Amino acid sequence: MINKSNQDEIQKYLSDASNYHGSCQSVYFPENANDVSSILKEANAKKILVTVAGGGTGLTGACVPQDGIVISTEKMNKIIEVNETEKFAITEPGVILSDLLRIISEKNLLYPPDPTEKKCFIGGTVATNASGEKTFKYGPTRDYVLELEIVLPTGELLNLKRNEQAAELYSLDLHTAGGKRISVEIPEYQMPDTKNASGYFCKRNMDAIDLFVGSEGTLGVITKIKLKILPAPEKIISCLVFFNQEKNALAFVRQARNISFDTRLRNDLRTIDALALEYFDEQALKFLSEDYQQIPGDAKAAVWFEQEVTHSNEESFFDNWINLIRKFNGDEESAWFAVTDADKIKLQEFRHAISLKVNEFISKNNFRKLGTDVAVPDLNFEELYYYSKNVVEQTGLDYVIYGHFGNSHMHLNMLPKNNTEFENGKLLYKNICLKAIELKGTISAEHGIGKMKRELLLAMYGEENIKKMMSLKKQFDPNLILNKGNLFYESLL
Ligand SMILES: Cc1cc2nc3c(=O)[nH]c(=O)nc-3n(C[C@H](O)[C@H](O)[C@H](O)COP(=O)(O)OP(=O)(O)OC[C@H]3O[C@@H](n4cnc5c(N)ncnc54)[C@H](O)[C@@H]3O)c2cc1C
Repeated sequence: MINKSNQDEIQKYLSDASNYHGSCQSVYFPENANDVSSILKEANAKKILVTVAGGGTGLTGACVPQDGIVISTEKMNKIIEVNETEKFAITEPGVILSDLLRIISEKNLLYPPDPTEKKCFIGGTVATNASGEKTFKYGPTRDYVLELEIVLPTGELLNLKRNEQAAELYSLDLHTAGGKRISVEIPEYQMPDTKNASGYFCKRNMDAIDLFVGSEGTLGVITKIKLKILPAPEKIISCLVFFNQEKNALAFVRQARNISFDTRLRNDLRTIDALALEYFDEQALKFLSEDYQQIPGDAKAAVWFEQEVTHSNEESFFDNWINLIRKFNGDEESAWFAVTDADKIKLQEFRHAISLKVNEFISKNNFRKLGTDVAVPDLNFEELYYYSKNVVEQTGLDYVIYGHFGNSHMHLNMLPKNNTEFENGKLLYKNICLKAIELKGTISAEHGIGKMKRELLLAMYGEENIKKMMSLKKQFDPNLILNKGNLFYESLL
């Protein structure tokens, strides 16, 4: 097994896309679960800290080590099976999402939870319960995880299958492959009724697999994953429509969301059922206008939507959407409609460009990312949106807002130009997260907590619940060696 300790060679493992920086002594590149197990057994015996690294595209410093060693999963990159008949895929954790998506789409299948950044690893997406634009219709990664093979921090192997190991009320008994029994008490906190990637998934009678999905590598190293896949839709129409009034764009999203929910409830295949509903505010459009000169100068907002269609119903869906665009005074003339695959890719690149450009800006100026990942129940969303916009405008900081508004999920990214602005931005960021908590939402809907939002997770769930999460971790990781610094401050224990 390769192990690198030359600091020049391991720099890329010392930060992630959030520009959070750390340090470590060496990086290990295991090739299978046995390798992972021997690294962890030794580290556990010697109480050496271990951090797991996926693709390093995370936005919270979660894969960034604070000391000790890093386990990179990049050599565990085999797609073991794609079963077209039974609709599942089995992969190792280091498979790059774009590679899996390519193979799946060649077989006319769909794996829906695809984050905007497709260089992430499948293991990373499971560890963070990642979401993508299609999450509006198809839910987050959690909904697609059927089985996991996990190496626990003690080196023992745990195999989990959905629907086979569940908690009894809040007590969960698990058995490792070697026969060791692990009993945990699930904390009884109420999770927000939103898309959520904040802290452990905890629910009465929950499936054990859900505890590990989204646990940010704090409970074990995922070494094999079985995912549910779906048949690909016959066709997808995709459109970016500009609005010259922000309130109309927000109302358009609200109405498209409500119609989509209603369509699903009635299982009616003839009316609007958005696959994706994404929003860009005026600042985001201005930020992108250098690269996309086709953006109308007077645009105050834009919405990107996608809709699955068939060749026979495509036209009627098209008419339905046009009617909705007209109802909210969207600019039909300047809208970008994508029908061919090439056009669709261009629209996806446009959506990706905003996240990339923000990350480039913060890296260039050497600040950490200050981008919210908040979501609230739909009814409270506009209150959160206007609150956030007002407070950021009062400070005079440059910012952009975009995100998965179908899921009432907002990324407000601050673009500080100097340290004073960065410090102001930090306070603002915190206030927006506290507002989301007040509105019964989450501080992280998809990126997770990592090392950058621990204080806010504490604000969201309270000290007593955080301590319960930590006791749960201790059942799997008695020496607290794995992914130190993610989710909570060890000083609380
Ligand atoms: C431009 C851009 C756009 C993005 N858009 C989205 C988006 O739309 N939706 C979204 O959800 N996220 C998005 N992200 C964030 C990021 O891509 C996701 O969080 C992704 O899931 C991280 O995967 P990764 O492999 O890069 O993980 P890493 O960053 O390497 O690690 C993330 C966490 O997972 C843990 N981990 C990784 N592999 C394993 C394993 N095998 N076992 C146990 N723990 C493991 C790490 O220890 C760490 O805690 C975006 C990022 C960028 C840069």
